[in-house]
Amino acid sequence: MELENPSKYKAQLKTQFKRAQQSLLNFVMPPLCPITDLKVQKKGELHPQGWQALDFISEPFCAACGLPFELSATTPISKESLCGACAAPDDAPFALTGPLSFNSLRAVTRYDEPSAKLVLALKNSDRMDIAPVLADLMTGPGKQMLAQCDFLIPVPLHRGRLWSRRFNQSAEIARHICGKIASRQKFLPGLLQRIKPTPQQKGLSADQRRRNVQGAFAIAPKSRINLKGKNIVLVDDVLTTGATMKACARVLRKSGAAQVHGLVFARVIGYGSKSLTLLGEPLRP
Ligand SMILES: [Zn+2]
Repeated sequence: MELENPSKYKAQLKTQFKRAQQSLLNFVMPPLCPITDLKVQKKGELHPQGWQALDFISEPFCAACGLPFELSATTPISKESLCGACAAPDDAPFALTGPLSFNSLRAVTRYDEPSAKLVLALKNSDRMDIAPVLADLMTGPGKQMLAQCDFLIPVPLHRGRLWSRRFNQSAEIARHICGKIASRQKFLPGLLQRIKPTPQQKGLSADQRRRNVQGAFAIAPKSRINLKGKNIVLVDDVLTTGATMKACARVLRKSGAAQVHGLVFARVIGYGSKSLTLLGEPLRP
C-alpha cells in the first residue's frame, strides 16, 4: 500500500507515540498538584482543592500598591483609595510607590503556606511546569499595566546564584507572561543586572534589608536599549518588604523609564508575620 502523504503519517505516528509515552509516565509517576499533592490530569495543573487553598488578593485594595484593606463598616473605601504609605509624602522610605519607585504594584495572592509551596516548587524543585501557571494567574491582576507596557523585566539573580540554580524563576515567569500576552519581543531578561551578591536576608529588619540591596542593581553596560519614556513592568515571584523590587525600580527610573509597575505572584501582607519563615525559606527583601 502506498501512502498518500508519508510525512503526515509519520507526524500522526509520532503524536500517538508521545501520547502513549505520556500515559505510561502518568501511570508510573502520576502528576501531582504542587499544593495538595493530590493526583491531577497533567503536570502543572492544580487540584480544585489547591485552587481553593490560594488566598487571592481582591478588592478593596490600595489603588497604587495593591495592599488589601481590612474591611471596616465605618470606613468608606473607593477604587481610588490609597494606603497610608502610598498617601504619605513622596518617596517615604516605607512606601512602595512614588516618583523614584513604582507607579503601581499588583500581586495575585497573599504569601502563605499554599502559595509558598507553588513558589518553592518552581524555585527549588525545578518544577518548570509551574511557571506558566503563575504567569497565567498574574495576567489577571496585571492586565492594566501589561496592556500599556513596553518591556517586561524580571528581577535578576546574581550570576553566582544563577549558576547554582541554573535558571531565574522570575525570568521564567516573565517569559511566560510575554508568551501569554503575545509580546515575546517585550521580554528583556538581561537588561537589569544584579551586580552585587546580597547576603542572606533572613532575620534582618526592613531597614537592614533596604540597605542590603543598595547599589546591588544596574543596567547592563553593553545594553543598547533606551528606556527613556518607556513603560516597564518589573516581574518577581514574591514581594516581601519590597526593598529588592524598589531598588530595581529606582535604577529603571534613573535610566529614564517613564513608568515602572511591579507584578508579583505572592505578597507578604504584614511584614514580620510568621509567613516570612514559612517552610524555612529565606525570602528576598
Ligand atoms: Zn499603597
